[in-house]
Amino acid sequence: KESKDPRAPLTLPPGFTADKYEEFITAAQQIVEEKNVTVITDAAQLIHEHYTDPSKAHDMHNVVEKTYFVASAVLSPRDVKDVQEIMRLCNEFEMPVWPFSIGRNTGYGGAAPRVPGSVALDLGKNMNRILEVNVEGAFALVEPGVTFFDLHEYLVKNNLRDQLWVDVPDVGGGSIIGNAVERGVGYTPYGDHWMMHCGMEVVLPSGELIRTGMGALPDPSRPHADGLRPDQVPGNRAWQLFNYGFGPYNDGIFSQSNLGIVTKMGIWLMPNPGGYQAYLITLPRDEDLHTALEIIRPLRLQMVLQNVPTLRHILLDAAVSGNKKSYSDKDEPLNDEELDAIAKKLKLGRWNFYGAVYGPEPVRNVLWSVIKDAFMKIPGAKCILPEETQDHPVLQTRSGTLQGIPSLDELAWVNWMPNGAHLFFSPIAKITGDDGMLQYSMTKRRCKEAGIDFIGTFTIGMREMHHIVCIVFDRYNKEKRDRAHWLIRTLIQDAAENGWGEYRTHLALMDQIADTYSFNDNAQRKLNETIKNALDPKGILAPGKNGVWPSNYDRDAWRI
Ligand code: FAD
Repeated sequence: KESKDPRAPLTLPPGFTADKYEEFITAAQQIVEEKNVTVITDAAQLIHEHYTDPSKAHDMHNVVEKTYFVASAVLSPRDVKDVQEIMRLCNEFEMPVWPFSIGRNTGYGGAAPRVPGSVALDLGKNMNRILEVNVEGAFALVEPGVTFFDLHEYLVKNNLRDQLWVDVPDVGGGSIIGNAVERGVGYTPYGDHWMMHCGMEVVLPSGELIRTGMGALPDPSRPHADGLRPDQVPGNRAWQLFNYGFGPYNDGIFSQSNLGIVTKMGIWLMPNPGGYQAYLITLPRDEDLHTALEIIRPLRLQMVLQNVPTLRHILLDAAVSGNKKSYSDKDEPLNDEELDAIAKKLKLGRWNFYGAVYGPEPVRNVLWSVIKDAFMKIPGAKCILPEETQDHPVLQTRSGTLQGIPSLDELAWVNWMPNGAHLFFSPIAKITGDDGMLQYSMTKRRCKEAGIDFIGTFTIGMREMHHIVCIVFDRYNKEKRDRAHWLIRTLIQDAAENGWGEYRTHLALMDQIADTYSFNDNAQRKLNETIKNALDPKGILAPGKNGVWPSNYDRDAWRI
């Protein structure tokens, strides 16, 4: 692109001229200071491509052209007041703005905006304080830039691990707030992060500041000086203890949404249970998936399975230990014999069940004996404890993850293919053998058609399971990228035809999935858009996020 003005962005937001854009940037610099504004003028700036050094402006795991989902500039507010002022400025200019906390939302679009040229709001860079860790109430209050690693390290440094644990996802570099608002998952008994959040502070598209739940109730007994801004006033003592407050419960509309920017959030921490034992149960055959799920459902419902356990396909574990080349020279998907050979080599099953029991020893012993007895009905099933083996690296990692110790080990599976990138296809299913087998066989068949290995895991919630399929592809190879894109689009369609929907998705798939949630002529989307238009009449905040478009955007014109 020819550009005379070196300050002009690579991609202008819709409706902007270079002059109008420059006017906006000058005003934004006055709000957040020049050093907190980076204009993306050149594709050569899009060099950050790894989880450990994430891009703040584009999707590092791009499934469409790398320069499509790209921000025009990255603004890093210093505090809540800056966020409010930026929202007012964006309203004045009708500037689309995409907030994120850390930008490690890989597989779902990273930090990139849905509308190319939007201004990215990097909340985590400067707003990264742990505001409170409360031992008595077992909660923390955090700002957007606090990662799982940060909170865990805080507990360690302050000798609080013997009292409190933080639940962590597979990799710990993401933010507590970003992950929870996206309804992300971890693996202790506190694995449903949205369920475990309590109390939010939110900047609305208008710039107004609210606190949800008990946070809406001032607490005159808390010490605070007059003259503080609302965001600086200490919250109600029950803000992080009781989610619902009084009247309509608002928090849900700020999750996977484009209705507000979360500037503070409470998260419940798990009291140290007083004892812990991780375990692995290997299951030799593909069809053992059916029996395993029938065993898992009642145990999980009764909370004999206390945590969010996972039933992982052999290739997910294999990919953590080595790339595809280290097992095979084949480009096409591995067949059953090859998978069996890998399982044998790694001393694993075709499916591998990772869980943990929590509590004092007698409690653990009872739970473990019930779990073990149930699984031992599967011929060839084996139980392995991390203390008993040097041969199972994934078990060692899981043993940390399931007690809230964050790591980066699982990043390795992204390198299954050269220049590895990934998409997550993540449909919800009933925890039954029939549902699991049907969803698995449908996915496996489509993966084969796409020439992509099936790599996946069933993550067991309270009453359902998230089937997380890791679609790994070579991001520099257009043909392979297109195949991955075809695969996920086809799987979304197949799933909808079976009554299955996804819990979360990548920017490029948001409209397709929103279309599938179509009960009564898309009545839910109409409700979401009515709320959107009321709260954000200029349509500035994350237009198109999760398929919710404000009235000044034409949904059909923005389809991918
Ligand atoms: P961000 O990129 O900061 O935010 C994600 C989105 O949330 C933003 O785009 C925005 O729409 C919204 N958002 C963020 N902050 C705000 C805010 N303050 N206000 C309003 N909206 C906001 N994920 C899991 O959940 N569980 C896993 O076990 C897991 N395992 C993974 C394993 C691997 C190997 C990889 C590569 C990824 C995995 N992920 C997993 C996906 C991802 O890394 C995490 O979900 C991560 O926590 C999300 O990134 P983030 O916290 O940086 O979110």
